[in-house]
Amino acid sequence: GQLNAPETGRVISRFGQHADIRDEQGNTYRCHIRRVVDSLVCGDIVQWARATTEQQGMQGVVIAVHERQSLLSRPDYYDGLKPVASNIDQIFVISSVLPSFSAQIIDRYLVACEDIGIEPIIVLNKADLLDNIDDEEKAHIEQRLADYQTIGYTVLKVSSTTGEGLEALTQRLKDHVSIVVGQSGVGKSSLVNQLLPEVNAETKQVSDNSGLGQHTTTVATWYDLNEGGALIDSPGIREFSLWHLEPERVAWCYVDFRDYLGGCKFRDCKHADDPGCALQDAVSKNELHEWRLSNYHRIIETMKTQKPSRVIRG
Ligand code: GDP
Ligand code: ZN
Repeated sequence: GQLNAPETGRVISRFGQHADIRDEQGNTYRCHIRRVVDSLVCGDIVQWARATTEQQGMQGVVIAVHERQSLLSRPDYYDGLKPVASNIDQIFVISSVLPSFSAQIIDRYLVACEDIGIEPIIVLNKADLLDNIDDEEKAHIEQRLADYQTIGYTVLKVSSTTGEGLEALTQRLKDHVSIVVGQSGVGKSSLVNQLLPEVNAETKQVSDNSGLGQHTTTVATWYDLNEGGALIDSPGIREFSLWHLEPERVAWCYVDFRDYLGGCKFRDCKHADDPGCALQDAVSKNELHEWRLSNYHRIIETMKTQKPSRVIRG
């Protein structure tokens, strides 16, 4: 078949040798991926050419990938790091009042975000439940969130049930490419359903019914937002793991530790009971939050024994 002149497009989703490409007018075309193009992922900006006639369901061809601003990969037991989505510039780390709030889990996601250099935004969902829990737990949550803010992170409190804080969340999404992550039950699906306008529900329907089987439910998909910007989402993108990181890298990804890391007496300092540890010293002077250092140690401990919980094969 013949091809029209190449143009720029966005990868909406990718399955095997095929990708759905959105052009600058917002139309979507199913395209064959040329073999010379490797590791094409959702979010990629590409050069592609529309075919003059559709062939075997293919409406065009992907010719080349533009340079990526960022790349989100998941560790794969067999393949090492496996790319899943690109050009994301914000990660919403969703936590909630119930199931019980865990700063350690938030820390794990923050480390993962810092490792790949994408800005995390901490979201406390189910804020409506803050009045249902005991005062001590409520104070604990408020204190952790305040600490995250002093470290420099943006913190949003929302409720997908009452709509509280969703306006601020929408403002944050505008003109960015975002994903949401967080453990099961914190309300990610509920939030995504609130955030995605109806036009996308239709798009979602189309890709789910494309006859490409179960692939489509786990494949990362790009959703344009009415206000501008986009959300990349799939069940598989909502959790990521850290087992591939070295302890030194994890420490560096604790942004509040960075200024102190060079100051430890011993180069191989474990930041535990080592003499002359600059981090322990900073904790004793209240320059660092003790809970951050203890979460760091717990993360390092669990990483030692952690096996990949799930193996994703492409
Ligand atoms: P996911 O596993 O992170 O995708 O979480 P879901 O979106 O499935 O939500 C888990 C449960 O929390 C569901 O029963 C939701 O109805 C509930 N839920 C979600 N958001 C809120 C909220 O803002 N407030 C309250 N009270 N419940 C919520
Ligand atoms: Zn140290």
